[in-house]
Amino acid sequence: MNSVDLLPGIEHAAVISRAEHGISRKDISPAALRVIHGLQNAGFSAFLVGGCVRDLLLGLHPKDFDIATDALPEDVRQVFRRSRIIGRRFKIVHVRFGREVIEVTTFRGHHDASNRFKDAPSREQSRKLDSAHSHAGMTLIDNVYGDMNEDADRRDFTVNALYYSTDGFRLFDFHDGLSDLRERRLRMIGDAGERYREDPVRMLRAIRFAAKLEFTMDSDTEAPIRELSHLLESAASPRLFDELLKLLCGGHATETFRMLRNYGIDRALFSHGFVDEGEAMDPADRLVALALHNSDDRIARGLGVTPGFLLAALLWPPLQRGLSGLEGEWSLMQLREIAEQVVIEQSQHTTIPRRISNVSKEIWDLQNRLERRDRRSVSYCFEHSRFRAGYDFLLLRESSGEDTGGMGEWWTTFQDADENQRTHMLEQLSSRPKRRRRKRSRRK
Ligand code: ATP
Ligand code: MG
Repeated sequence: MNSVDLLPGIEHAAVISRAEHGISRKDISPAALRVIHGLQNAGFSAFLVGGCVRDLLLGLHPKDFDIATDALPEDVRQVFRRSRIIGRRFKIVHVRFGREVIEVTTFRGHHDASNRFKDAPSREQSRKLDSAHSHAGMTLIDNVYGDMNEDADRRDFTVNALYYSTDGFRLFDFHDGLSDLRERRLRMIGDAGERYREDPVRMLRAIRFAAKLEFTMDSDTEAPIRELSHLLESAASPRLFDELLKLLCGGHATETFRMLRNYGIDRALFSHGFVDEGEAMDPADRLVALALHNSDDRIARGLGVTPGFLLAALLWPPLQRGLSGLEGEWSLMQLREIAEQVVIEQSQHTTIPRRISNVSKEIWDLQNRLERRDRRSVSYCFEHSRFRAGYDFLLLRESSGEDTGGMGEWWTTFQDADENQRTHMLEQLSSRPKRRRRKRSRRK
């Protein structure tokens, strides 16, 4: 028998052979394989787990490789020179190979540590229990290690709890994840309501995976979400921002957003409400929908999306509302004040790193200048480091039905023009700054 077969807890898993699962070693990142072999050589067991196994089975390219092991974080740290322990809630080791980072987690146990290893613990098990206790006080109860079966119980969805071993190339399935995967079903392990209460972010994960994988949520997994969505308001706001980015930059933003609204989760995530498709949408609302659509399209074409750009779009409706409340023409100063306020209000729901909100603010700033038909403004914009993003945003505003005085088209022609044509276009502009008078439509 191979050594992994002796691992505590593994006897609860269904074992699936290579002929049945079809995962090929060549699809696994060499760095992940090196981590697995490094741990095995040091006498530990190590498995690929989570999204990478799920995605490999679905024929998708995993975006990262996670490893689960019976080695303690300190042990992992010892094995790999270029590694560091991160995480307060639960310790994780990041092992670095070039630009790739492999995340290594020690098998986690159930919350109730007193019950664990109660029948004659082996030396190895006692060592783990002691180690978990020695960190008590510093870490939360979460930081408790367990056997492989317990580790599987603590994962979120059945399709995320499949373990792949290079030892025999077998898959270990504790919760019938492979049949769920084949039937494209997203099913929470254990009682879904309880699991969402334990960690409300799992509701966002459910939506993200359902949209991304085009899976149907199992009815028990779906049922509690609407009722419990408000719990997300108490989740840590930096974590919510990370999740929000994953939700919107994963190539399925339109569908994800529809689901967020359907379950009422948008109210926990955003400082402002959104208008439903079909309801009286004004250009700012349409711009949000277009931006989500465009970012999915970009990702499908292998292009990246800028989080600051998406944020500028998502917060455009409250910014416009703020501006429409002002009397007469507004100044750049006023725009900036309202922009700051909009960002602060959103930060109370999801923290926004300054490097990202600064990009959004620059894009908003540029909108004002891109509309001005004078030479100084034109050269200011054209030399601005965010010109491209600002111009794309201007086009988005035009597509959403906003009147920008035809400046989107002007800028498109200007960029396509040669030197002579550009000079000619500039000559036709006024030399003095002159702001375009805008017709303002008040929201009802
Ligand atoms: P992807 O990396 O494609 O976004 P993933 O499933 O790998 O998807 P990660 O956030 O990388 O997601 O997490 C790795 C694994 O850790 C998950 O597959 C799951 O088994 C477990 N996991 C992550 N977050 C949670 C959570 N909040 N509750 C329970 N298990 C979780
Ligand atoms: Mg992952």
